[in-house]
Amino acid sequence: MTFQSLGLIEPILGALADLGYERPSPIQEQAIPPALNGRDVLGIAQTGTGKTCAFAAPILQRLSATHTRGLRPIRALVLTPTRELALQIQESFVAYGKNLRLRSAVIFGGVGQGPQVDAVRRGVDILVATPGRLIDLYQQKLLDFGKLEIFVLDEADRMLDMGFIHDVKKILQWLPRRKQTLFFSATMPPEVTELVDQLLRDPVRVAV
Ligand code: AMP
Repeated sequence: MTFQSLGLIEPILGALADLGYERPSPIQEQAIPPALNGRDVLGIAQTGTGKTCAFAAPILQRLSATHTRGLRPIRALVLTPTRELALQIQESFVAYGKNLRLRSAVIFGGVGQGPQVDAVRRGVDILVATPGRLIDLYQQKLLDFGKLEIFVLDEADRMLDMGFIHDVKKILQWLPRRKQTLFFSATMPPEVTELVDQLLRDPVRVAV
């Protein structure tokens, strides 16, 4: 199996090759084709399996296919539980998307909001966020999800363990109903299954 055979476009293939990725990992092999086709995906996978590329590459490809004029609305949102994961994910978007003209930003708590707000105001296609800071900025009316096309919930079981499940549910109410959702969790406790049932439409299930 090659990345090319998964349907990825040349600018992304080039970026992956430059990173030394030779072949797709199992989660990438199974999740990238349906995600590129706009399907919802439920990925049961841990960190270290290559799941970031499994959602980031399709998001970059789908967003690069359509242009937005003027101010860039947020078209993809990735929600992840920790600052470290948020930073890593945003770095991955930058690396995989280096040959594309899409912009991403990352927001998380524990630091001043000024630079994050400035980045969002300049216009971003992709926002990577932890729940607390997202809620904070949304309630200040600094974020608008009216044009959101793709939503990623990363590490859903850890969100639950860290007590973020109510925050996640609150955020879900602010997103358009019609969207593509890519949902990742290492385990499937009942509360996570319940969220999957509420959120995903006819998902492709991928377990690695
Ligand atoms: P993740 O599970 O997304 O945190 O990725 C774990 C690590 O594997 C990261 O350092 C990635 O850069 C790397 N990685 C992801 N996909 C591949 C691949 N197909 N080939 C080689 N390395 C990869």
